Amino acid sequence: MPAGPIESGYVAHQLQAGVYDSIPSLQPGGDTTPLEGWMSSDAGRAWARAALRRGVSRAASAGNEGVLAGLKKHSWEDAHLTQRAEIGRVLAHLPERAEALLRLREGPSESVLSGPDSEVEKAGEDKKDENGDEEDKGEADDTEERFSGLPPDFGYDDALVLAAARWFKHEYFRWADPIACACGGATAYAGPGEPSADDRAGGAARVELHRCAACGATTRFPRYNTVRALMRARVGRCGEFAQLFYVFLLALGLEARYVWNSEDHMWAEYWSPALQHWVHVDACEAEVNKPLLYDRGWGKMQAYCLAFGVAGAEDVTRAYVDDWGACLRRRQDKWRQGTGWGERRLAWLLLTHTVQCRGLLEDEERLRLQSMDEAQARWVADAAGREREAAAGGLKGRESGTEEWKEARGETGK
Ligand SMILES: [Zn+2]
Repeated sequence: MPAGPIESGYVAHQLQAGVYDSIPSLQPGGDTTPLEGWMSSDAGRAWARAALRRGVSRAASAGNEGVLAGLKKHSWEDAHLTQRAEIGRVLAHLPERAEALLRLREGPSESVLSGPDSEVEKAGEDKKDENGDEEDKGEADDTEERFSGLPPDFGYDDALVLAAARWFKHEYFRWADPIACACGGATAYAGPGEPSADDRAGGAARVELHRCAACGATTRFPRYNTVRALMRARVGRCGEFAQLFYVFLLALGLEARYVWNSEDHMWAEYWSPALQHWVHVDACEAEVNKPLLYDRGWGKMQAYCLAFGVAGAEDVTRAYVDDWGACLRRRQDKWRQGTGWGERRLAWLLLTHTVQCRGLLEDEERLRLQSMDEAQARWVADAAGREREAAAGGLKGRESGTEEWKEARGETGK
């Protein structure tokens, strides 16, 4: 344990020099908070203001720095959109679903699992069966799965996220592939198209073209990037799922952030007051708290999993991989090839971003965030505890996407 608080000038100097690892609060389990003192000082606030201005005015640069710039920008811009009333209307029914999930956990009697006026029906209220048994059976199975999937220490927020993720995947948003032609024929990717003014207004700088084998017509798939456009289109792949779901979590009043993975996946995290750590949630899969889904379930060789939110950024990779040593070697390879970051460089970039985000907050709020950081660090450092959580959750292969697409990405879990 370091001896006493470190002077703010020292910390500022270390930050500017990029010598982050001698700052105690960056080390897992560190119990001092030198950054807090510095961020509360006039010098700290002035530095944060100047850094924020620089961050805002700087155009996205190429490569790795550009990736980070884009992630920072998104977490801010999307977070500010949560005030929109239209999002609130979309999400209005979710709290009752979370309540239903919690009631189910208290004990599934025979009537709850099969009766017509049971909690089961309320939990899946929108999908009333019109054709009899087939649908009925699906609902009951789904509910049994919902019930058995709730760990004993799940709280209301956790139930709310689980209900939201299942609603998002099964009712609200649609997985883009396979992209069918209007004639019903199968399509194949035919290269990029030119974005229209409408596409650009929706943040789509890229448009995919998919040509029909049967009639030759071309179907456009704009990759929208704004919350409003995504709410209109309600279709996408993991990037669109994660971006919009992150905003919905914020709109539900939860503390949330989204996670960018260098092996081409994205998901979200929310802060669980019951579990006292940031919790994985993947809306593509409707899975909550299964951070090893990608490593063990899909067999993905991940290098970087970086979380971005309004209160800063964190390298959360360690929680998402089984073998941290092997992961560090993959990162070193990437860094040598110019597709990764040096470990010090990355930690410095994430730290400075976090300091920028928090520099202008009230002291009380910053201290609250700091205590969350500390609880999170304890959870990350506790490999055995994370293992127990993973064991309780169970794992399976990827659900979203076609077989060929999963095969191409090496994500079939085989
Ligand atoms: Zn066609």
